[in-house]
Amino acid sequence: MISVIDARDSVLNRVQLLGTERVDIFSALDRVLAEEVFATRNQPPWDNSAMDGYAVRAEDTASASGASPVVLEIIEHLAAGYRAGKSVGRGQAIHIMTGAPVPDGADTIIRSEDTEQVDDSHIRVRTSVPEGKDLRRAGEDLTVGDRMLPAGKRIRPAEIGLLASTNRTHVSVYRRPRVAILSTGDEIVDVDEDISDGKIVDSNSYSLTALVLEAGAIPIRLGISRDTREELERNLRAGLAGDVIITSGGVSVGEFDFVKAALDALGTSMEFWKVAMTPGRPFAFGTIQDTLAFGLPGNPVATMVTFELFVRPALLKMSGASRLYRPTVRALLLSDLHKSSGRKQFLRMQLFERDGQLYATQTGAQGSGILKSMSLADGLAITHEDQTSIRGGEEIEVMLLGGEWNLAGARCC
Ligand code: AMP
Ligand code: MG
Repeated sequence: MISVIDARDSVLNRVQLLGTERVDIFSALDRVLAEEVFATRNQPPWDNSAMDGYAVRAEDTASASGASPVVLEIIEHLAAGYRAGKSVGRGQAIHIMTGAPVPDGADTIIRSEDTEQVDDSHIRVRTSVPEGKDLRRAGEDLTVGDRMLPAGKRIRPAEIGLLASTNRTHVSVYRRPRVAILSTGDEIVDVDEDISDGKIVDSNSYSLTALVLEAGAIPIRLGISRDTREELERNLRAGLAGDVIITSGGVSVGEFDFVKAALDALGTSMEFWKVAMTPGRPFAFGTIQDTLAFGLPGNPVATMVTFELFVRPALLKMSGASRLYRPTVRALLLSDLHKSSGRKQFLRMQLFERDGQLYATQTGAQGSGILKSMSLADGLAITHEDQTSIRGGEEIEVMLLGGEWNLAGARCC
């Protein structure tokens, strides 16, 4: 049986980068940049004032002190967004607002609060101001030709602001993966169907659709397939329109588990069938032409956990991302935890913080059909294959499942 790490490497080795498309910068939010973006001009474009005050010549204030103040003549009032009509000469000042271009002749700014008004056209200065004080220099954020954003960067609000600030309205990003999702099982019915004769409502295609959307990909919902090789084959063939096919159920060794046979019939090159993990041991992965096929286990928790570990990094990689994995944190285990040897176990954990220390506790019963254990979870504990128990008080690594946090360590305000 293949290990989790080897299985993940094997999946990622098969991933091909998708093509690119040009989109407006709002549509680029959360997508991955497919081009290097260079600054086409300086930002800010010119020296400008960082304060409301007076643009002056530093030299004119050099002798200013409480005992011997300097009086300067105000020759102009300059709002942001305009250029001065005059240049600052000896003994002169231009009243300047934050963001206005620094007038010719001036080499520093004296803040309004460091001046006294003598009359409408004069100020008194009691301290000297060094050259370059409270100036924002042209190009201090970006200099023309700077590599502003590298390809592979995920576009967040800051990147959208940066692009706009240098007049970019469109960028090239990687295409979103199209992901076909198929539930399998004679017992599986859709949410609005009758379950009275022993049926089970399809939750997997719903959690998977949400996981696909959350990973920035486009779901193609193929519905539910009966457990016959023919019907599975027909449905999988429809899924070849996608970059990825995900099935759930039908990958164990039961009498009605035909997903493998159907994938074989389509000419899938299978990479592996079983992974040494709980939940999620029956888990198939292969490639059919350019499409990656993931046969996820049917149990709802196993479906979600195997998606997190194998499908999500693959979707991120094909969409150009350079960061593929969820972050992990280290936390102290609250009570003893037992597991079987030989497999990595991914237990659903709740995290909480007390006195600056992070603690982890299991989210109740951990059966792979107990979907509530995922809903309650902040993350998945990552255990080692050879461990059989971990004692309360020992440190454990937890892979976060996203979302916001109430942890003191992350508190900013
Ligand atoms: P299987 O691997 O097909 O034997 O499925 C394992 C378990 O997962 C069975 O109890 C199924 O009823 C359940 N299961 C399979 N597919 C789904 C689904 N789409 N939604 C909810 N439960 C499912
Ligand atoms: Mg089944």
